[in-house]
Amino acid sequence: MAELYVVGLGPGDTACLTGEAAAALARAEVLCGYGVYVELIAPQFPGREIVTTPMKHEVERCRRALELASAGRTVALVCSGDAGIYGMAAPVLELAEEYPGAQVQIIPGVTAALSGAAVLGAPLGHDFCVISLSDLLTPWDVIEKRLSCAAEGDFAICLYNPASKKRGDYLQRACDIVLRRRGGETLCGWVRNIGRAGQEHRLLTLAELREEKLDMFTTVFIGASATREIAGRMVTPRGYRLA
Ligand code: SAH
Repeated sequence: MAELYVVGLGPGDTACLTGEAAAALARAEVLCGYGVYVELIAPQFPGREIVTTPMKHEVERCRRALELASAGRTVALVCSGDAGIYGMAAPVLELAEEYPGAQVQIIPGVTAALSGAAVLGAPLGHDFCVISLSDLLTPWDVIEKRLSCAAEGDFAICLYNPASKKRGDYLQRACDIVLRRRGGETLCGWVRNIGRAGQEHRLLTLAELREEKLDMFTTVFIGASATREIAGRMVTPRGYRLA
């Protein structure tokens, strides 16, 4: 019986790792995951066996990690950000019953909503929703409904997977849904390559966001009605009396 750590690496290099994640990686004999993420941290944890799987082979990746742990190896399965947010933690736990020899432990990481929010200021200072625009596993009409309800509830909205090559107009469609409930001047922002080389960000209005061409390395923030710009930062006040 051996440990399988499902580890969120945070948004970028090892500077974004939590202490708990670093300790789990240090204990691991095998580093498992999508090639790019394993390569990001492998130099800091040398001498481990590396097992990589390509993108979109998530189930195979989880099974491989569970098999190795069942065979007695201490394994870290790594994900970007937090492993529980659009990551491997849920499928590992769904499959784990088939591998009673593996002891699964989930190690949290700093998800892109949090690391990106810190770059922009404090856009998530009050209630917020996180919605992925990827329709690979979620039907688009469900995504539309969630966007519409989040807009109706006046939540700040954080969008993951805002675009891909096949889904060029999804961000535009998402903005149109929010625009039914919120004005075009609503403050928004995006952050690209958070915690990585080439990090960039922009504050803009919802009307401008609708015209923006973004890629999958970007996280988007749509303000609530109370969100405003303060000295170049995006801030959603919680309502403290400051006077
Ligand atoms: N488990 C990850 C999310 C995986 S979904 C997490 O908790 O952060 C992939 C999406 O996350 C991307 O399309 C993007 O919207 C966001 N994302 C993840 N890492 C990012 C980074 N370093 N910079 C910007 N966006 C990022």
